[in-house]
Amino acid sequence: MRKITILGATGSIGKSTLDLVKQAPDRFEVVALTASTNARALAEAARSTHAKLAVIADETCLEELEAGLAGTDCRAAAGEQALVDVASGEAELVMAAIVGVAGLVPTMAAVEAGKTVALANKEALVTAGALMTGAAAAKGATLLPVDSEHNAIFQCLAANRVDEVARIILTASGGPFRTATEEQMRTATPAEAIAHPNWDMGAKVSVDSATLMNKGLELIEAHHLFGLPSDRIEILVHPQSVVHSLVEFVDGSQLAQLGPPDMRVPIAYALAWPDRMETNVRRLDLGAVARLDFEQPDEKRFPALRLARAALCEGGSAPAVLNAANEVAVASFLEGRIRFTDISGLVERALASDPPRSPENIEDVIDIDRETRSKTRSMIEELCA
Ligand code: NAD
Ligand code: MG
Repeated sequence: MRKITILGATGSIGKSTLDLVKQAPDRFEVVALTASTNARALAEAARSTHAKLAVIADETCLEELEAGLAGTDCRAAAGEQALVDVASGEAELVMAAIVGVAGLVPTMAAVEAGKTVALANKEALVTAGALMTGAAAAKGATLLPVDSEHNAIFQCLAANRVDEVARIILTASGGPFRTATEEQMRTATPAEAIAHPNWDMGAKVSVDSATLMNKGLELIEAHHLFGLPSDRIEILVHPQSVVHSLVEFVDGSQLAQLGPPDMRVPIAYALAWPDRMETNVRRLDLGAVARLDFEQPDEKRFPALRLARAALCEGGSAPAVLNAANEVAVASFLEGRIRFTDISGLVERALASDPPRSPENIEDVIDIDRETRSKTRSMIEELCA
């Protein structure tokens, strides 16, 4: 039995993880589940998995959580410190599936406690990359990539060494606006932006997939996970989302991992690693897919790619600034306040006005995040005035 804690259990990744855990009750024991504000969904998930502890980030929701857990043995807790406590608590395996930089502190707590961390929360690694990989090495934590592309690369590397890798190729679906004109993108609505052609995901990552900022964040994520420089990580648009990524080795061989566009496949690999577990996902039928297409990304229509690569090359605070400005801009777009195409414009301005500095610890990253959020909000006020 593996003891597991799921941070962000009520989200898209959290629910897929719970589905797999429930399919294999002899493999997993659920220690704790967490959520932001949805106490009812959290209580229901805790009931159905016999979790020992449920933590709600928003303290005003504690009463509702307690009511939802009445008659069970599951304890309720609330607040930021409680999140950190469960992340570093009893479980050996922690699924980090909070969205955004909100997941940084608990994810880092799991790493500092030497856990095996199934990492979906890419923003944590993007903003605090070297600090997180450094802490993992120092504390003996294992980072298992859950993001489908990084999970694919991780699988391709299983029998090989990173020093035999020539380059990695991250595939991108291209999102809902792959073939859209600049004018169509300028007037795109939130509903259009979150209607992803292949994947069913949370709203934030769906918008990131539409701007291709998701691929930009994944470029930075890949750099930290696999230790390769920016010029050895390429991005290739592949609209069918069947080839989840590729690794090219020094001898010219390329290995790819293929599968249906269902996050339960990479999640299952992380949950069962170093073994594999059965899943009931719909199998990939290549005959039915019939063809696989690949094309170069268009950095003119999707400037987020160029911005993320520049932030990775600049290093220091730049990736945290990129991420913070993007989070604020995406939230503002989802609220209908700014245009879709304003998102990358705001990120670009935030990066341009950032004085170069090097975060030395997580507190520094949080300060940079906070400062950039407030700066980006002011830019949005100006834009809307
Ligand atoms: P989601 O919005 O569906 O769920 C987010 C979860 O985080 C929820 O449980 C929510 O309660 C919790 N949360 C949100 N804000 C919080 C806060 N301030 N404090 C504590 N908890 C908070 O998001 P998702 O789509 O499941 O994505 C989660 C992470 O996984 C993201 O980093 C995303 O980029 C990554 N990811 C998602 C997918 C996908 O298919 N959904 C694929 C690859 C990577
Ligand atoms: Mg991905």
